[in-house]
Amino acid sequence: MARLKIVKIGNSILRNATGRVDSACLKDRRFRKLLKDMAVTMRYYRGVGLAANQVGKTMSVFVLGWQANSRYPDAGKVAFRVYINPRIVEYSKETENGWEGCLSIPAYRGLVRRSTKVTIEAVDEEGMPVRQTASGFLARVIQHEADHLKGLVYLDRMEDRRNWMHLEEFSRAFGVKAGPEE
Ligand code: ZN
Repeated sequence: MARLKIVKIGNSILRNATGRVDSACLKDRRFRKLLKDMAVTMRYYRGVGLAANQVGKTMSVFVLGWQANSRYPDAGKVAFRVYINPRIVEYSKETENGWEGCLSIPAYRGLVRRSTKVTIEAVDEEGMPVRQTASGFLARVIQHEADHLKGLVYLDRMEDRRNWMHLEEFSRAFGVKAGPEE
C-alpha cells in the first residue's frame, strides 16, 4: 500500500467530470490497489472522504469513513466505504450551512449550504448495487465527494465568499486546534 499524492486546486483534473468505472475493472488488481491506497491516503491526511480525481485518476469513485476525526471533532464515526459510479438520486428540500475543508484546498474552510439528507446509489467494490440514505455530516461528505466526480469543488457551492477562511483565522474564531496537515 502506498500513500498517493493529492492533487491541489488549480489542476484541471479536479475540474473535469470523471469517467464511469467499467464493471470488468472491479476485479483488476491495480483498481483494488487504488482503493486501498485511497483509504491509506485519506487516513494519513485525516480526511473524511477522498475522490479518485483528487489522486489523479479520472474515475468515478470515492471513499469515505472516519474514526473520531480531529479535523471534524463533532462528526462521530462512520465505517469506511467505497462508492463506485455513484449518483445522488434524492436531495432533501431542507438545507443547512456547514463548514467544509478539502484536502485539495489545504488550510481553508468554507461555509457551504447542503441538503440535510440525500439518497445515493452506487456499486460497492464487489460490484453489488448499494442504495443509502444519509443525513447530517455524512450527507454533507457524500455531496462534497459526489461533486468532486462532477468536476466541482466546495467553493462552487458557496453562497458568500466572505465565509471562506484560512484555517488560522477559522481556529481563532471558533477555538478549533489547527491540524498540521491542513
Ligand atoms: Zn474535497
